[in-house]
Amino acid sequence: MSLRAERSNPRLWGLLCRFTPRNDKPTPRLTEGLRIISGFGRHFLEVPIQSHLGSLFHEFCPMERHDLTRDRVIVIGAGIAGLAAAFRLRQAGVNVTVLEATHRPGGRMTTDVVNGFIIDRGAYWLASSYSTVLSLIREVGLASELRAVSPWLAIVKDRIPRRIRLGWPSPFFAIRLLGLTGSLRWARETVAADYDAWAKFDDEDAASWSSTHLGSVGTIHVIDSTLGSFFFQSVEETSRAAVLAWSHFTRRRPLTLSRGLGSLPEALASGLDVHFQALVQAIHLKDSGVEVRTANESISADRAILATTASAAKGIFGEAGELEQRLMKTRYGSTITVCIATNRAWLGKQDLRKVSVLLIPRVEGEIVSAAGPGSHKYPMSVPHDELLTAVVHDHTARALMQRSDEEIIRCVVPELEKYFPGLSGAIRFAYIVRWTEAMPKSPVGRIRSIAEYRQPTLSTRRVLLAGDYLGLPPCAESAAESGIWAANQILSA
Ligand SMILES: Cc1cc2nc3c(=O)[nH]c(=O)nc-3n(C[C@H](O)[C@H](O)[C@H](O)COP(=O)(O)OP(=O)(O)OC[C@H]3O[C@@H](n4cnc5c(N)ncnc54)[C@H](O)[C@@H]3O)c2cc1C
Repeated sequence: MSLRAERSNPRLWGLLCRFTPRNDKPTPRLTEGLRIISGFGRHFLEVPIQSHLGSLFHEFCPMERHDLTRDRVIVIGAGIAGLAAAFRLRQAGVNVTVLEATHRPGGRMTTDVVNGFIIDRGAYWLASSYSTVLSLIREVGLASELRAVSPWLAIVKDRIPRRIRLGWPSPFFAIRLLGLTGSLRWARETVAADYDAWAKFDDEDAASWSSTHLGSVGTIHVIDSTLGSFFFQSVEETSRAAVLAWSHFTRRRPLTLSRGLGSLPEALASGLDVHFQALVQAIHLKDSGVEVRTANESISADRAILATTASAAKGIFGEAGELEQRLMKTRYGSTITVCIATNRAWLGKQDLRKVSVLLIPRVEGEIVSAAGPGSHKYPMSVPHDELLTAVVHDHTARALMQRSDEEIIRCVVPELEKYFPGLSGAIRFAYIVRWTEAMPKSPVGRIRSIAEYRQPTLSTRRVLLAGDYLGLPPCAESAAESGIWAANQILSA
């Protein structure tokens, strides 16, 4: 099959690109696949199978290849999206440089160790359905550091936490909340699993869809509270397609890394050429390539991957086309991560046994959207007593963003006291992180724009966008996957 013939059928070409590994590493062997299956479950099988299919494809359909080792690619942003892209390109022998504005890798996926407590500043847990992130974890040698998180969460209803088990069966089978008919309806609607499929549902906001299908309890206590707690947005401003995409991921079990989630970006960055404190000001398209400008230098390259948040990308890439401009207008939900180390443990006076995250719907409380005891997430991250991590609702975060740490604590603690009585007298120290742009919002239309951007015919772009605003649902997995996608566009050009 010739390259031209493959490209004349974009759908087939897209499929082949998805299944074709573009690196020089040896193909994982079947034994590796079997070892992984026995360890963690079905989703891990996908990578070895894809790699084997890719090898077969290469063997029987050799392609004319452009010599990529002579190309230079600049990746802007050392979050998980940019690092995944750079890692993939580096594996393929491409000369790749990462420019990062801050002094450390990870962006919204960073970990600090404070007085022995392992504190995830942004991303809190992974799901066992995250195939891209878990592949990266294996490739950088961190697989032995994966830890299962308690699959129990709780949703507050009428001031009482109701425990629900994540994974299979998913929380939405929780007949306690949805009833039998609601649960069955939910199961039927959440089978979609890719951008083209999700785009077909990108026609109605989740509030109207959910109130018809799931009733007011399902809408307020399940959909809105999950969107508010995990994605910092409300049901009214979110497309039903985003809810379907997110529920696809939550069917599996939560995981973490023993030294915190930030250890993945750090491991990725350690093998790459990353320039820190290199704030990119602009990208310009040139006759045959791009020019990337920082305050101190101007760098020429063949291609660039712009892996910042949407607003930063908009400021950098003024020459972007209409579709990119539309994507770069993506707005974000805000939150504040409030970590409180305490001198006592909470064992569940309010039925919080093993609960790693407690979700508090807006109707139950306007300040905290979710909170969880760190020892229930991963006991070794808490050297003694307890570390409570809370995130606040989007609108509350916006109101508190400029306030001092003390004012934020004064606002948050009384709300937490309802579920962790005695907290105010047990605080050892508090650690606060403000996120003006925590997660991209997903209004109706965004998913269709993403699907349009990801059409295979657009792979000749000199500047490719990556980041969680190019993925669905917004999370570490979709960010990493968007980076791999962008790298593969370059490798398949
Ligand atoms: C509080 C919170 C909780 C979360 N919880 C979870 C969770 O439990 N599970 C999950 O999967 N996801 C979670 N997420 C989401 C996840 O962290 C993000 O989706 C993901 O990390 C985004 O990665 P990214 O690479 O797209 O963007 P970012 O991490 O934002 O990376 C962008 C990088 O670009 C850099 N940059 C920006 N401008 C410039 C410039 N001009 N020049 C150079 N560099 C620049 C930034 O400094 C940053 O390092 C959470 C996020 C937050 C905030």
